[in-house]
Amino acid sequence: MRLILGLGGNLDDPPAAFQGALDALGRFVRVVTVSSLYRSDPIGPPQPRYWNMAALLEIAVPPVELLDRCQELEAAAGRDRSREVLWGPRPLDLDLLLAEGIIVLGARLILPHPRLLERPFALVPAAEAAPDLLHPLADRTLAELAAGPHPGLVRVGPLHG
Ligand code: ADP
Ligand code: MG
Repeated sequence: MRLILGLGGNLDDPPAAFQGALDALGRFVRVVTVSSLYRSDPIGPPQPRYWNMAALLEIAVPPVELLDRCQELEAAAGRDRSREVLWGPRPLDLDLLLAEGIIVLGARLILPHPRLLERPFALVPAAEAAPDLLHPLADRTLAELAAGPHPGLVRVGPLHG
């Protein structure tokens, strides 16, 4: 199943955390394509600007199992959910944005991600990684959904390393 992973962070060294997370995930899913790195204005309380990117994965496990691995990787990058405020700063945030052809309404996992369409910092990198992927609720491609000017979102360049 094709699935888009969104990566974000604004503490420590997010690009290094992204590379580490993609390397670790690459041991049990296939990382098909990655987007460029982006910077975006924070939402929520005052905090540093974010780094963002997205990756198209090919997965053979249930998406909730991928969520488990992602939450372990967030913790390994120094994230402590028990001390966080809503939408506050974090070194690494891994969100499952969309899985091709399925809708999930679980206690721990909702797909497509409920805030994907209102968040250019997730949608634009996702569309770069997989422009032709269909959003199963909007019934439009990511490229169509991501069109338009997005002030506050800056494409930085490729993730090196
Ligand atoms: P956010 O990413 O919205 O800033 P968190 O990373 O703290 O917030 O995630 C909060 C909860 O959202 C997690 O405990 C997770 O179970 C839930 N969740 C529901 N759907 C998803 C999804 N598609 N991707 C990631 N987490 C999700
Ligand atoms: Mg998250």
